[in-house]
Amino acid sequence: ALQATRLASAHPGQGHAVEPTVLTPADLPPGDVVVRVTHSSLNYKDGLALQGRPGILKAFPIVPGIDLAGEVVEGGGEGFGPGDRVVVTGWGIGENTSGGYAEYARVQSGWAEPLPPGTDAAWAMAVGTAGFTAMLAVLALERHTLYGSVLDGPVLVTGATGGVGSVAVALLAAAGYEVHASTGKLQEEAYLRELGASAVLHRDEVSSLNRPLESERWAAAIDTVGGSTLSGVMSALRRQGAVAVCGLAGSAELTATVFPLILRGVSLLGIDSVACPRPLRREAWARLARDLPAERLAPMTQTYGLDDLPQLSRRILDGELRGRSVIEVAQP
Ligand code: NAP
Repeated sequence: ALQATRLASAHPGQGHAVEPTVLTPADLPPGDVVVRVTHSSLNYKDGLALQGRPGILKAFPIVPGIDLAGEVVEGGGEGFGPGDRVVVTGWGIGENTSGGYAEYARVQSGWAEPLPPGTDAAWAMAVGTAGFTAMLAVLALERHTLYGSVLDGPVLVTGATGGVGSVAVALLAAAGYEVHASTGKLQEEAYLRELGASAVLHRDEVSSLNRPLESERWAAAIDTVGGSTLSGVMSALRRQGAVAVCGLAGSAELTATVFPLILRGVSLLGIDSVACPRPLRREAWARLARDLPAERLAPMTQTYGLDDLPQLSRRILDGELRGRSVIEVAQP
């Protein structure tokens, strides 16, 4: 199956945008499963990698792309073998080992998950790392409800038109929660309401909440922005509320007081999709298949080719993209 293969984007240097190149199968990293990749996706981290921002790509040459889906052509693992379709997110693919922006990927068998029944590779990458992360955030908030009613009230999603944000809005709405969406793009209000938001507010309204304790507005939150947005969210969560902390699209800095934590019992729940343990991965993919069928993903999904990656990577860093961007790598 491994004939000379056109692999994309493999010869960058720190600080320089990645350029397409051709590698041979021998250039693929070690691993016990070879996947014929049909779909990958563009996540914020891919934008950073493709634009040569420091800290993402850690080994050269490398194929970027932090997630992929396709068909196993060699090897296998728990519950899958040649001919089966799998999804891989995280574990360092597209960061310190080659990832999804090529027709073939070689990975460790423990990194691949069989696609849930009734789904396909295009669906898996419409979800992608961003959607998987949104699912982990919802699951974290639900685990937090064990002794309280953290989700018994409005749940705020920040960076709501982004990949993580859009899926988070749809998942929370599918689970019956009241969703408030914070965005810098108020012109996308109709889109966010279509996904299931019952209220849409401008992101400045959240990031300008700068007193240690603001009046209590949200029962819980999923934050993709960080910085003053996250500190604003913390200060306006209700008693026993929690925020699932996913991202840094605004800033990696966090300046806050401990008052929401010690006077209102507010919790910060960290979300890491990269090294997420396998049982939680399986639970998340099964729930995604249940709550987010392809027709619910359609309004938030655009499909592109590998050649579109240079311009898309610039646009995602500029906050211009909406929802999820699937990269069709090869015909299924
Ligand atoms: P994305 O599609 O670019 O979404 C980010 C959204 O944040 C944008 O659409 C925009 O939404 C908002 N935003 C952008 N720049 C902003 C700024 N300067 N200030 C305030 N808001 C801004 O990216 P994504 O793939 O969803 O990822 C979102 C974040 O989550 C990234 O930081 C990413 O690294 C992180 N992430 C973390 C994990 C994990 O495992 N923890 C996994 C995946 C992603 P609005 O215009 O609607 O405000």
